[in-house]
Amino acid sequence: MQILRAARLGMCFGVRDAIALALEQADAGPLTILGDLVHNPTVLSALAAKGIAVAHDVADVKTPTLMVTAHGTSERTLARTRALGLTVVEATCPLVHVAHRAVAALARDGYHVVVVGQRDHVEVRGLTGDLDRFDVVLDDEDVLALEEHPRFGVAAQTTQAVEKVRRLVDLIRRRFPQSEVRFVDTVCKPTKDRQSAAVELARQADVVIVVGGRSSNNTRELVKTCARYCAHVHQVQTDADVRPEWFEAAPVVGLTAGTSTPDDVIDRVEARIRQCVLVAQ
Ligand code: SF4
Repeated sequence: MQILRAARLGMCFGVRDAIALALEQADAGPLTILGDLVHNPTVLSALAAKGIAVAHDVADVKTPTLMVTAHGTSERTLARTRALGLTVVEATCPLVHVAHRAVAALARDGYHVVVVGQRDHVEVRGLTGDLDRFDVVLDDEDVLALEEHPRFGVAAQTTQAVEKVRRLVDLIRRRFPQSEVRFVDTVCKPTKDRQSAAVELARQADVVIVVGGRSSNNTRELVKTCARYCAHVHQVQTDADVRPEWFEAAPVVGLTAGTSTPDDVIDRVEARIRQCVLVAQ
């Protein structure tokens, strides 16, 4: 049996930097993070162990310092936070800032903004939080429900699969042939790298294991992408989720991980796969 790791997998620079900043700030004084810093239970437990609080609304913050996550937030939320007298530390990923600037430019240039992403995801709420009118679409049905506008400006949540985003942009163009449709590709490079490496991996593997939090969008997208090329794909949060029966008659096992998955969690999953294979043989 062979275990293949995807050429690109696991934690991205945006998440690494955000975790490092949170730990540094927690050493300097009491800290609250606005929402989950990353969608990974292992990382969240480590932050909680450092005494870092999490609040889902600025009104609930009880420390003098508040940190915005790598997913970013809107200018309106930042203004509300500062009005409460809180010191704001921004861990917003530079590539999320790129998406914010793209959305702001589209709105300023008179386009009706459409974001391809999950309506309730914290990043999408941040991207749309300064707009008075916009739409969020995730599938064909959402596009079919759009109203006509003379000019559509489309951007994407940074962790969406870019092929899906392009397909939905094409669908908007076909549904509104009279409208101008401008697309700005805001899917981040680490997401694209992990997606294309996952395709290569899934083509070669009999079973693919995707490591990442259940609420992690990019992990879910990796699962969907791998499932297009491999019939046996399993998502695990930690090594404890790995089942020996998955590896019966599986000469090649592929391993990939979402952008919020720490290296040591991936290593433990790989070690557990090796153990399971011994049991299965
Ligand atoms: S997934 Fe992309 S946008 Fe999000 S933190 Fe990582 S690099 Fe930044």
